[in-house]
Formats: sequence, structure tokens, C-alpha cells
Amino acid sequence: MSTALADLKARLGRIEDLKAASNVLSWDQETYMPPGGAEARAHQLSTLQTMAHEEFVADETGTLLDRAEADLNGADPLGDDASLIRVTRRDYERDRKLPSSLVAELSKTVSEAKEAWKAARANDDFGRFAPLLRRIVNLNLQKAEALGYESEPYDALLDEYEPGMKTATVADTFERLREDLVPIVDAIAASPSLDNEVLHRTFPVDKQKQFAHAVIRDLGYDFDRGREDVSAHPFTTSFSTGDVRLTTRYNESYFPAAFFSTLHEAGHGLYEQGIDDALDRTPLAEGTSLGMHESQSRLYENLVGRSRAFWSHYFPSLKEAFPDALGDTNLDTFYRAINRVEPSLIRVEADEVTYNLHIMLRFELERGLINQDIDVDTLPELWREKMEDYLGIVPDTDADGVLQDVHWSLGAIGYFPTYALGNLMSVQLMEQIREDHPGLDDDLAAGRFGPLLDWLRAHVHQHGRKITAPDLLQRITGDELSAEPWLAYVRSKFGSVYDLR
Ligand code: ZN
Repeated sequence: MSTALADLKARLGRIEDLKAASNVLSWDQETYMPPGGAEARAHQLSTLQTMAHEEFVADETGTLLDRAEADLNGADPLGDDASLIRVTRRDYERDRKLPSSLVAELSKTVSEAKEAWKAARANDDFGRFAPLLRRIVNLNLQKAEALGYESEPYDALLDEYEPGMKTATVADTFERLREDLVPIVDAIAASPSLDNEVLHRTFPVDKQKQFAHAVIRDLGYDFDRGREDVSAHPFTTSFSTGDVRLTTRYNESYFPAAFFSTLHEAGHGLYEQGIDDALDRTPLAEGTSLGMHESQSRLYENLVGRSRAFWSHYFPSLKEAFPDALGDTNLDTFYRAINRVEPSLIRVEADEVTYNLHIMLRFELERGLINQDIDVDTLPELWREKMEDYLGIVPDTDADGVLQDVHWSLGAIGYFPTYALGNLMSVQLMEQIREDHPGLDDDLAAGRFGPLLDWLRAHVHQHGRKITAPDLLQRITGDELSAEPWLAYVRSKFGSVYDLR
């Protein structure tokens, strides 16, 4: 290894240590920290994050990058070293374009906005959040201008969460999706509603935990390199490939809440645990994009976890774990109950079919805000119009409408589409898996999850950030992002669940 490369790795390793330490503090804040720790914790996090940022954007990082690059001498571009230099250069140039005054202004605005959003939501008073949101939109626009873009400012913001993805591609894909999805949702809404009363019975929390842990252990989640705790909002965090933690929240009277969120987070966790150890302590040891990350969580939550094959294996042990709740029910009733579709107001509670419509609505609104086609004051009204158009229901309050999500108050614009991209990619990947493993359903029905995980590790997980999501998708499936496989999957699965023709 050249000295420049060794020096670069040492520097990046120290920066990764600072980031991991701040991740530990954030994890603790969401799980165990008493409320009294909040103020000090905010200082601690800000100190560590500032140190990591300053060390990264310093001239010295650029000098080491130049020297290490010169030493590469035509090495394999997909090798670890060439990838490290390429990805680090992309991050470095991006971060250097942002004036520190803008970063500081954004972080100050966000801490005010979070409080304003909480109060606005609690009091159903959009007017309280609107001025802060206007500032956040303006700062994001300045950020986009500083970063630069090809076609529209939203491109620059999207690229932070989904490197290499273009707004126009997302817009075209969503357009195609909406065209077919709205009629499917209408047809389901016109069918007799499925009874899911069985899911609302009493499911003791300790049994839920035991059952879910046994399942994710079967899927391949390694508890020697991870753990699960309780937090208000479930998430996954990683301090190294050897320590990848999940959180969930339990609801004794609604089985799906904790179980499917545990499968979802385990999908994220399997991705992080599956990254090649050789990439640890470098900027490559993360998922390649939020969309690709979400494809892994959705694959395990929905394509595996809500399939008939999966439950034909697990339903007998589920019944054994909850004899009081499930003694009088059968696999078919349970399978239909967990796949019930119903247009609803709240994104995080949406089912597999309607979820993407919630995302499209948000994408259209935030793209309009950033491109200055939409004014902040008109958001609540536009929200209601789009809900009516896409889902056929309208919220009575802004708290259940435009104020429901935390993302904009955190300054995150360009984040929402990654959820839907993940859904689409999960099915594109699954089509390829089925082509490579025609016996997948037999595996799932027999509780054999190794072949699936081996495939995901070989094709997706191990690479970390070495390959961008669009390139990875192309490499694996030979195709670009597409809505067709997801639509075909939904038509087939829910056509049968709802006896549609
Ligand atoms: Zn997720």
C-alpha cells in the first residue's frame, strides 16, 4: 500500500470512529437516556459531528486523496482501494461546496423547526410551522445552488440520499406507477373489506419478543453482532459490521406493529451485517443508498414476511406461542388479515399497496416547493386535493395531513422518494432471485432462509457503497429502475387476496 493511501485510510478511520461514537450516543438517546440528559447530549453530539466534519473537509484530506489517486496506477476501479478513493472524493467535493455559514444556518433553523413542528402538530396549527418550513425550503434551495445540478434544484437534494438518481427518472417512474395503482386501489376499496379482528387480540409482549427474535435469527440476523431494544420510533444503527443494532416498539393488542417492524429493521440490519469486513472503518461500510437500504427492509418485511409460503412455515409455531389469541383461527384467515388493504391517512400505518401513493404525494409537493412552483401556504389544501385524487379520503385535520411527518422539520427534502424506490427495487431484485432460485417458495415454506441471504450478500450487501444503487440494479437485473415488476407483483398477490378479476 502506498504511504498516501495508508495515511488517507488512517485519517478516514479516525473520522469513522468519531461518527460511530456519535451513533452510539444517538442510539443511547433513543433507547435508555433519561430525559435529564437531553441538553448535555445535544452538545456532545454536536461536538463529535463538528470534529468529524472539520477533519473531513480539511485541505489535508484533499491532498491525501490527490496523492493516493496518483498512486493507483490503473488499479481495478471496483477494487476496495479505487472505490474508497472514488466515493471519498465524491463526498469530499460535495461537502466542500457547502459554505459553513449555510450549514450552520440550516442546523440552527432545524432545531427551531423541530419544536415548531411538534407544537403545530399537537395543536393542529399549520400556521405555526409554515414560517419555519419556508426558511427550510429556502435554505435547501441555497444548498442545491451551492451543490449544482443538471436539470433542476431537486436533483442536488435527491442525490444526497440516492446518489446517481435523477428527479426526472423518479417522476416518470411514479407517473407510470400511479396510472395503474390508483385503479387497483379503487378496485380493492370496492371489494368486501377483509376482517383483521384476529390481529387486535391480546399478544403478551414477552411472547412477541421471543417469537420475533426466533424468526429474525432464522433469517440470519446475528445476535452476537447485534441486539434489539425498544424505542419510540423503530430504527437500525451500525457502529461497525460487528455491532448492528435494531429497535422496535411493542403493542400488546396489535400483533403486526412490532413483528413487521422487527422484520423491516432486521432487513436493514442484515444489509449492514453483510458488508465486507474489509470495508470496516471506511466510508464504504454503509448501505449504498437509502432506496437500496429500504429495498432490503421491504424485501424481508413484505415479500418474505407477508407471503403465504413464509406463514405456512411459521403459523403453527405462532399459534403455539399465542394459543389464547389464535386458537380458533387458521392460516388462510391470518394471511388475509395481515394483507388487508385499506386507504388510510397516515403514511407509517399504510399497507403494502397504498404506501407508494403516500410517497408520490410528498414527492410532488416537495419538488414543487424546491422548484418554486408551490407556495408553503397552499400545502394543506394541495395535500387534501391529492389525498382525494390518489386515495379517495381526506384528513379532517392538518395534524393527520401535511403535519404528520417529521422529515421536513429535520431539513430533509429529497428523502421521501427513497421509500418508494426501495419498494420498487425490492421486487426487481426478487424477480432476479426467483430466476436464479426457482425453488425460493419451497425454501421459505421449509424455513430455509440461507440461500436467500447468501444471494443478497453476494449481489448487494458485501459491496457497501462501492457501487451506486442505479449501477447495482443494472448489474444485477440488467434493467433500470422500473415500476412494472412491482405492479405485476401487486396485481397478482392482491388479485388473489381480494379475488379480483
Ligand atoms: Zn426502513
